[in-house]
Amino acid sequence: MKDLYLVVLCIFSLQIQAQTTIEIPVKIHLVSDANGTERLSELKALEYLCELNETYIDSEFHFYLKDGFSYVDNASIFNDILSMDARNDIEEIRDNGAINIFYASKLKSNNVSFLNAFYDYQDDWIYIQFDSKQIYKQVLGHMIAHYFGVSHCNGNSYFVNQNLDNLQDLEYQDGSNCDVAGDKICDTPPDYGVFIDSVENCIYTATVLDFKGQQIQPLVKNLMSSFYPNTRNGCDYFVFTDGQYDKMYENYNNPKRDFLKGDAPSYAMLSEQVKLVSPINLIEVDPTNGIELDWEDIDGAEKYIVEIAIDYNLTRKYQSFVSVESKIVIQDLDYGKKYIWRVTPYSDGNPCGVSWVSEKEGFKTVMSTTVDDFSKISRDFLIENPISNSINIEIIFSF
Ligand SMILES: [Zn+2]
Repeated sequence: MKDLYLVVLCIFSLQIQAQTTIEIPVKIHLVSDANGTERLSELKALEYLCELNETYIDSEFHFYLKDGFSYVDNASIFNDILSMDARNDIEEIRDNGAINIFYASKLKSNNVSFLNAFYDYQDDWIYIQFDSKQIYKQVLGHMIAHYFGVSHCNGNSYFVNQNLDNLQDLEYQDGSNCDVAGDKICDTPPDYGVFIDSVENCIYTATVLDFKGQQIQPLVKNLMSSFYPNTRNGCDYFVFTDGQYDKMYENYNNPKRDFLKGDAPSYAMLSEQVKLVSPINLIEVDPTNGIELDWEDIDGAEKYIVEIAIDYNLTRKYQSFVSVESKIVIQDLDYGKKYIWRVTPYSDGNPCGVSWVSEKEGFKTVMSTTVDDFSKISRDFLIENPISNSINIEIIFSF
């Protein structure tokens, strides 16, 4: 009887957990310049979205990809996202039923070049600069907290280290003014945004007194603390407090956020690694008519990211594709090259497929085509000829 009671209790608690999940649609815009170069890869974007869900694992929020990735080739947004041109274009591009996140690699606007990510309060979108190698861990989690109305612990919602002008905003360690000072959240202690380097192994070592003479004890490990973006903080992971989550739920429940409350896609959990079928084992293949890459279906995966490059680290001549089938034909590969590829499963509802990525496999493309097939001769000619796109040339050789 006791066992039965436990089982019933477990089922009940599982149901409670399921009922309290708040699905949040996220639209990810992968921005490039007008030429389509320098774009964040889909895989990285998925990794960041997965990390976002890990960051919010103790909350009711679960973030999903709304209607796949958005590919934006726009020089204004890419080069200067704060310009009027960029703002106007963003209004056209944005998804009005999701949180809009723009990953671009440059930010040239005056005076803000040191910011590598921000939430735009005016137009309600998030920007993240991705080319900086120092893209901060959990940066999307930090920005989402701003999106849902949570300030830095020191109370200043934009910049660290500049909030001492408003001395009346300084929070006391005893919490007596916690609802009107600092971030106005009472379970985050004072954080004056000073001596941010006074932290060792994620522990605050400075002595800073509040106006009552009590030493402040900031939450170094908080994702909204002044210590978060400091690369010398020594923390391996940052968290939120319950008070911060409550502030986010309050913002979400405001009617102005009703646009986030659409139908979320259902999804199944993944449980197996992708297995590549062909071409593998450095087999030699002819790329003339494209090469079909084939892998085994995975239960629960609705989409796959296919990556291919000419080096084992998948960096040189890197290309990536999203496929809804467990195969894809890749065109325009070079002759006489070794290619490495791999496949990552995912679904829009569950972006955390990264851990089920396949092993890398390779194949070689033939040096050149044989001369006994006339159609291939014409194709070789077309590839090597600088006017190969000419319709006239194609007609001449296609009888
Ligand atoms: Zn911030």
